[in-house]
Amino acid sequence: AQNLLEVENLKMHFPVKGGFFRKQIGAVKAVDGVSFFIKKGETLGLVGESGCGKSTTGRSILRLLKPTEGKLTFDGDDITEVTGRRLREIRKELQMIFQDPYASLNPMQMVGDIVAEPIKNYYNNRSKKELRSEVMDLLNKVGLPEDAYYKYAHEFSGGQRQRIGIARALALRPKLIIADEPVSALDVSVQSQVLNLLNELQDEFDLTYLFIAHDLSVVKHMSDRIGVMYLGNLVEIADKHSIYDDPLHPYTQALISAVPDVDSYGKKKERIVLEGDVPSPENPPTGCPFHTRCPKAMESCSSIKPQLKEVKPGQHVACLLYENEGLTN
Ligand code: SF4
Ligand code: MG
Repeated sequence: AQNLLEVENLKMHFPVKGGFFRKQIGAVKAVDGVSFFIKKGETLGLVGESGCGKSTTGRSILRLLKPTEGKLTFDGDDITEVTGRRLREIRKELQMIFQDPYASLNPMQMVGDIVAEPIKNYYNNRSKKELRSEVMDLLNKVGLPEDAYYKYAHEFSGGQRQRIGIARALALRPKLIIADEPVSALDVSVQSQVLNLLNELQDEFDLTYLFIAHDLSVVKHMSDRIGVMYLGNLVEIADKHSIYDDPLHPYTQALISAVPDVDSYGKKKERIVLEGDVPSPENPPTGCPFHTRCPKAMESCSSIKPQLKEVKPGQHVACLLYENEGLTN
C-alpha cells in the first residue's frame, strides 16, 4: 500500500526562557529528529513512557504545532509549511481522538450539536434535516442510541463519551486519525469495547490510525507496526510481531520484558529493570539518548548518536550494537 503519511527528521523544540529579560536560555527537545511512515489503511502504534515525545509527534502531524525542523508529507502533499485556507482543508482529513473524553467535550453541549459542529464549520449548505440525519447516522455507527442526540455530554459514562468524541472525529470523513491514549482514562471493562469499535470503524471508513499509548498490551491489540520512542527519538520500528517476539533495541527489550505474557505457556521471560530516571529533554545526553540507562552500553555510546537502520527486513533500530549487522542501504 501507498504511504498516507511520511514524517522525515521531525524536530519539535520548545524554547525555555529565563532570567530578568526572559531571554531564551535553552530548548526542550520534545521531538528530536523522528522519521517514519504510515501506509494507507494500517495502524501504527507509537509507544514510550510519558514525556518521550509521542503526543508531541501526533500534534505536530496535525499541524497544531509548527515543526521546528523536518518534513511532513500527507497523501502526497508537503504539509510542513501550509497555512490558512489550505491548512483548514487538510485538517478535515486529519482528526484526533483525545485521551480524556471528560475534558475534550463540553459537558453542557447537546450531543447532536457536538457531532454536528465540525460539519457546520466546513459546509454551510447543509439543510437542518440533512445535518440531523448525518449526525444520527454517525451516532448509530459508534453504537450510541438515537436519543443520545438530545442529551448532554455530562449524562454519559466515560466509554460513551469517548464514542461521542469518535463520532465527532469521523464527521468530516478523515483519512488519518491520531488517537492519543484513547482508552487510558476508561475503566478496563470498557477499554476493549472502544478498541473493538475503533477496529470496526477502520474498515468501514477506510481509516488509517496513528495509535499513541503507553500500555503495551493495548498497542499490541491495535497495531500492525509499532514505533518505540525514548526521549524524543524513535529507537525502533517494526511490525508488531518483531517488536514483541524479537525486540532488538535494549530499550524495547526492557519495555517488552515488563509485559505480562499470556501466550508464552510458562516460558518465563526475564524482567529487565532499568536503573535511573529518564534524563531531561532540556539537557539530553550526548551520543545515544539511552546510554545513561542502557544495560548494554559501550564506550562509544556516549559520543556517537546511532541512526535508525534496517537491521532485519522491516525492522529499523537505532543502536550501535547493530552497526555492522543487517541490510546494507
Ligand atoms: Fe545501548 Fe549503546 Fe545501543 Fe544506545 S547505542 S541502546 S547505549 S548499546
Ligand atoms: Mg486494525
